[in-house]
Amino acid sequence: MKKIRLFTPGPTMVPEEVMLEMARPMEHHRTGIYKEWVKEAHGLLQYLFQTKAMCVTMAGSGTAAAEAAIVGCCPTGHKALVVDNGKFAERWVKVCAAFGIANTRLPIEWGRGAKAADISKAMDADPKIDTIIIVHSETSTTALSDIAGIGRLTRDRGALLIVDGITAVGAIPCKMDEWGVDAYITGSQKALMLPPGLAFVAVSDRAWERIESGKTPTLYNDLKAYRKSLAEWDVPYTPPVTLVRGLLCVLRGIKERGLESVWAETTLLARATRAAAEAMGLKLFAADPVDSVTAVVVPTGVEEGALRKTMRSKYGFQIAGGQGELKGKIIRFSHMGYVDAFDTLGVLAALEMTLIGQGFKLAPGAGVAAAQKVFAEAMK
Ligand SMILES: *Cc1c(COP(=O)(O)O)cnc(C)c1O
Repeated sequence: MKKIRLFTPGPTMVPEEVMLEMARPMEHHRTGIYKEWVKEAHGLLQYLFQTKAMCVTMAGSGTAAAEAAIVGCCPTGHKALVVDNGKFAERWVKVCAAFGIANTRLPIEWGRGAKAADISKAMDADPKIDTIIIVHSETSTTALSDIAGIGRLTRDRGALLIVDGITAVGAIPCKMDEWGVDAYITGSQKALMLPPGLAFVAVSDRAWERIESGKTPTLYNDLKAYRKSLAEWDVPYTPPVTLVRGLLCVLRGIKERGLESVWAETTLLARATRAAAEAMGLKLFAADPVDSVTAVVVPTGVEEGALRKTMRSKYGFQIAGGQGELKGKIIRFSHMGYVDAFDTLGVLAALEMTLIGQGFKLAPGAGVAAAQKVFAEAMK
């Protein structure tokens, strides 16, 4: 059996204690015990999202929660601005199209994040816009958007702010109440270091007003049903009980450790990876890089498909390639969840060995030494 270490920005590695927790006997969901789990998980999710708002846990991948939030917050008579700066942002444009939601697309160059000024300009140009849909950490390009600044703007203008925080929540600072986010979304298989299958959305009171006011063309992903059940620590449909068990284990761990400490570690891993890339003579892709994932440009003369294949089959590291127009052009490394400095030194060593194997000119150990220096200073 080969040891495979996941460096993909979802799914990420699952801690052994979480896997063991999920291996425990099945529990029924219409019981007092399950209600206690729902209640405890809810309190811990509020800590994770830094909010007093209601946090909904749904069955499905992150897209399920994002779709529920978009459809619920954009009933007929409202208009969305969808910031489009990558593959996941594009998906939210598609959700609007699929449900006939009035929207304007705001294209931003891939690799860049959005700032309040971009949103302000688009809103000035179209006063009908009353909902902003944006990706916090655009995983496909590894670009970070300024949600704090955008939240100030949307509060001032009375617009709702829907944020895809799928590779942000639990990895980098996400402060729902302080920033004024109305629907913050994440999924289980990224920073929460769980298997895929749970989706989360924290929903502000302002957003609930909008959601309750509209007739949403949806059933299974209808947030209204979740809200009604959550009032009694219940769920509308059979939940992924096993994953919820794992979720409790993860969230207790995050609370015990403290979010600030988790955020600081993500940043440290990103800094070390960037330092290594530079020392290896590689370029970073993003102009506004996020700390949860790093994208490195594949240098000329190196074949990306073969590189990733060698990384996995020879060295046991699964990394991610580029998506859409970035296919073959970048490789991506996750810094989320159950990954540490020594896993990261390992993937960087494997990257060096792979690049050298393809004839790329590189002093062996250059990247690893640069990353190690960053870690050594931080761990003094
Ligand atoms: C992974 C990801 C998604 C998609 O989530 P699924 O869980 O695959 O539905 C959406 N947005 C971002 C930013 C992501 O990283």
